[in-house]
Amino acid sequence: MGRAFAGLPSVDEVLRTRCGQDCVAQFGHTATVAVVREGIDGLRALLKAEPAMASDRSANADRIAEDTHAALLARDASRMVRVFNLTGTVLHTNLGRALYAADAVNAATQAMRYPLALEYDLETGRRGQRDDAVCALVAELTGAEDACLVNNNASAVLLVLAALGKGRETIVSRGELIEIGGSFRMPSIMEAAGTRLREVGTTNRTHLKDYRAAIGPETALLMKVHTSNYLVQGFTKETGVTELAPLAREAGLPLIDDLGSGTLVDLSRWGLVRERTVQDAMRDGADLVTFSGDKLLGGPQAGFIVGRRDLVRACATHPIKRAVRLDKVRLAALEATLKLYRDPDRLAGKLPTFAAFARPVDALKALAERLAPQVAAITGRSVEIADTHSQIGSGSLPLETIPSVALRLPASGGQADRLASSFRRLPIPVIGRVEGGAVLFDLRCLDDEEAFLAQLDALEAQPC
Ligand SMILES: *Cc1c(COP(=O)(O)O)cnc(C)c1O
Repeated sequence: MGRAFAGLPSVDEVLRTRCGQDCVAQFGHTATVAVVREGIDGLRALLKAEPAMASDRSANADRIAEDTHAALLARDASRMVRVFNLTGTVLHTNLGRALYAADAVNAATQAMRYPLALEYDLETGRRGQRDDAVCALVAELTGAEDACLVNNNASAVLLVLAALGKGRETIVSRGELIEIGGSFRMPSIMEAAGTRLREVGTTNRTHLKDYRAAIGPETALLMKVHTSNYLVQGFTKETGVTELAPLAREAGLPLIDDLGSGTLVDLSRWGLVRERTVQDAMRDGADLVTFSGDKLLGGPQAGFIVGRRDLVRACATHPIKRAVRLDKVRLAALEATLKLYRDPDRLAGKLPTFAAFARPVDALKALAERLAPQVAAITGRSVEIADTHSQIGSGSLPLETIPSVALRLPASGGQADRLASSFRRLPIPVIGRVEGGAVLFDLRCLDDEEAFLAQLDALEAQPC
């Protein structure tokens, strides 16, 4: 047995190799030793299984060092890599939703680097409230009495239900018990918040009288939920906030409107349908409106609760608020994003999300004509220019699409998936979609033509 292990190097011997020294210099002693030990253990197991195996101790040390280097490199590669979103879905939840405006990036960076007056009143030199400045801005822009800011819209809904509906019933239409992105399910959020879900109406039709009949001594809230990611069509009846508001007032119950995306401006300016705005929801009579920061608003991930002051205060002072509060970096980015809304005419020039919506099809066509021959030359494949439709995404305007232009790379059989995967392995992975025997790259969100082209050479080396 002793002879069998004669070829087994010590940790020190591996660290003394040229490559071992490089590992320590690059990744540090602790990380290197841990991986080297795994390599030695592996070799020991091998030698034990095959004692007759001849092995050269110094060659083994070199090999383990090389394996260690490869393992450390692979482990060090960042998982949070930048990608090109050419899926055609502008607000892609899996790709991080809205991009920050330049002003928001600046504000966020400053907040990371320097101390800031986060909970500090510069006038009095005393402690201030963390969200005050941004809440005032939200109130100014939406016309709401007050606002409360949290981690995301799921938190906003959770907080509202816990603060105002706990231990009692919340009435919601059966047609609005949404699931968003797998993990946000209205009935589960209600359960977590401790409010009892009281479903009314049917999947396709809910009348005012259904809400009225459900109201009783146990009722805490009336709730409307925007069916952001689907549409009930055909024989349907939805009772809107305008109809519900008088009923809520009569019964003395708060009416909550979960808008989901929540835009502050009329989207028809950019050729989209006019989605109900936050201001509309309040004008219609909602007492509280909840919405996201990183969907149509085009800012950082955040959740808003806006509306009647007494109700907002009840949320802001609830213990869950502290558990779901916004951090300074996103608060700073949010303030910078919201300030842009004071000048709606220039939003498309400043907010990447709106810039993507507003990009004219002609410009995309011209871009496609520049790119197609170059992509064809580099990949050695035929590249067509195809009309397509982009989607808004993130459960915003589910049926609304924007005419767009794509590069279309035909690939028969299972080839399309492999081709798509080879683009995903590029230094800046390119994410397209496979559709009808081809890989499609929707150009609406391509904002860096040069970086896109510059890396395509790397594709040649990949088997497709
Ligand atoms: C997206 C959405 C949510 C969840 O918002 P997040 O910001 O993703 O937490 C809740 N309700 C509706 C109606 C939505 O569209």
